[in-house]
Amino acid sequence: MAEHLASIFGTEKDRVNCPFYFKIGACRHGDRCSRLHNKPTISPTLLLSNMYQRPDMATPGMDLNGQTMDQKKIQEHFEDFYEDMFEELSKYGEIESLNVCDNLADHMVGNVYVQFREEEEAAAALKALSGRFYAGRPIIVDFSPVTDFREATCRQYEENTCNRGGYCNFMHLRRIGSSRRPSATLSTSSGSCSRRGWRR
Ligand SMILES: [Zn+2]
Ligand SMILES: [Zn+2]
Repeated sequence: MAEHLASIFGTEKDRVNCPFYFKIGACRHGDRCSRLHNKPTISPTLLLSNMYQRPDMATPGMDLNGQTMDQKKIQEHFEDFYEDMFEELSKYGEIESLNVCDNLADHMVGNVYVQFREEEEAAAALKALSGRFYAGRPIIVDFSPVTDFREATCRQYEENTCNRGGYCNFMHLRRIGSSRRPSATLSTSSGSCSRRGWRR
């Protein structure tokens, strides 16, 4: 029986635990979900909710003045953000993976997931970021149950065949160009100062 329960934990068959929260760390029902969201008390992964604001968020492909935006500019904006995140977060520990959602639904839009090598590093980052602001908005940060991003990611999106678009329930992870991979462009030495939106 215990074995059976373990095998259905966090799956669609699990009537108690929410499969979306378990796998993706976010569920469209939020606190009103009829199934349990087991918030971890410690985890190597942090979720920074709705952290990335794309420049064309009102209308895809348009800036806030209604002007058409170059796809290259949009991608550059994203990569600047990614670097800024990487630089700041790597002050607290070794980053295993840093993922930014391209989904559009409220509970996933702009979500940043950072997985550290050690839980203690995630705990240090959580403590340091709580109460701070980024780009003028308060940072909402918490431990996340997600540790397997392959399980959480939409495979069709990776193959450019997801027909659910931005409202897919699985992560659509935005890619950075290979020339901008953080290891190639960033030093992780402490004391390096972040350039953009961070505020104490
Ligand atoms: Zn749920
Ligand atoms: Zn998808």
